[in-house]
Amino acid sequence: MGETIVALADLRYAAVVPQVPALAPAPTGLLADRLGRPLRDLRISVTDKCNFRCSYCMPKEVFDRNYKFLPHSSLLSFEEITRVARAFVAHGVVKLRLTGGEPLLRKDVERLIAQLAALRTPDGQALDITLTTNGSLLERKAAALRDAGLKRVTVSLDALDDAIFRRMNDVDFPVADVLAGIGAALRAGLAPLKINMVVKRGTNDEQILPLARHVREHFGPEVVLRFIEYMDVGASNGWCMDEVLPSSEVLARLRTAFALEPLAAAAAGETAQRWRYADGGGEVGLISSVTQAFCRDCNRARLSTEGKLFLCLFAHQGHDLRALLRGAQPDGQPWSDAQLAAALGPIWAGRDDRYSELRGAQQAPSGSAERRIEMHYIGG
Ligand code: SAM
Ligand code: SF4
Ligand code: SF4
Repeated sequence: MGETIVALADLRYAAVVPQVPALAPAPTGLLADRLGRPLRDLRISVTDKCNFRCSYCMPKEVFDRNYKFLPHSSLLSFEEITRVARAFVAHGVVKLRLTGGEPLLRKDVERLIAQLAALRTPDGQALDITLTTNGSLLERKAAALRDAGLKRVTVSLDALDDAIFRRMNDVDFPVADVLAGIGAALRAGLAPLKINMVVKRGTNDEQILPLARHVREHFGPEVVLRFIEYMDVGASNGWCMDEVLPSSEVLARLRTAFALEPLAAAAAGETAQRWRYADGGGEVGLISSVTQAFCRDCNRARLSTEGKLFLCLFAHQGHDLRALLRGAQPDGQPWSDAQLAAALGPIWAGRDDRYSELRGAQQAPSGSAERRIEMHYIGG
């Protein structure tokens, strides 16, 4: 009671307040960064809290009961998020992904989805709106999310075996409840549905084949299982290369049981290499963030829970959009939507981030690991 909450994230992650150009040129939708990459995908973290403690993301020893999450007043409101999203859409964003933390923990998140679903691209198209969840609340919420305008969902699921799953989420959460959530999402029409499995060598790699079989047999081709290489995000998961199982090995293991054929990318900037089962049983994806970096096509921006814009998952510094949303011009007037959009242009145009490529070439800046943003704060 009466405890002062210090938002560690505020202190830990440096931010710069964006400059608003004197003349606010209208967005063209053709923005490119310094490496020629367009802006297409905005990932929005709606909470830094989570009911799981996956060791690769929010290890219990760090995110314990003394950890101070952001106070509600620091979070962007739904109206603020929608305003920022509108500015991004004017610049060419066509895809929004809600994430966190666990996004389904944010109260009334359906209301935010409904607001985002009403946005249109400059040529009048609806946006591709999706959400990444640990699935724990999905059975309860799937129909309401669909009714609010959500089209698809990605569920994180690291094991089929209950004991391994409980160990990985580290809060003893049963796998049956996540599987029930996936079933509910499919019944609600949230498809195609993706399942993301982070593979850690020696922890859950023996689950690759059982999970692939289960998805084929119980869910069918409208569920795409994707295997993600364990990444060195954040500064608290104790990452080491020995625990990364390269996608090439995941593929080799899958091929011991299934005939697989390569598929072309469905969209530019797609993170997964796609493979189809030769018998028509659907497809799988391999996300090789560590061994085959895909920075060259990275068209993703990330908005943190408290309104900082990050240009890379491995960035150290964000751009404080909340300062613009809540602040005022020198004459006391609030910044207009046009000014907000105008401030975004130079930020993206100046982007040259390509951390995974540099790490792959052994050129990652030294001492960078300690200052990296945590995944639960910025979203996946
Ligand atoms: N709580 C939600 C969930 O787990 O789906 C959304 C947020 S979570 C940070 C987003 C994604 O990041 C999840 O699929 C999770 O598995 C992935 N992730 C977290 N830490 C990771 C790491 N160290 N390496 C690879 N993926 C990671
Ligand atoms: Fe929570 Fe998702 Fe991180 Fe696991 S990966 S701790 S479910 S935010
Ligand atoms: Fe994009 Fe950064 Fe990941 Fe490269 S390391 S793909 S630039 S988020």
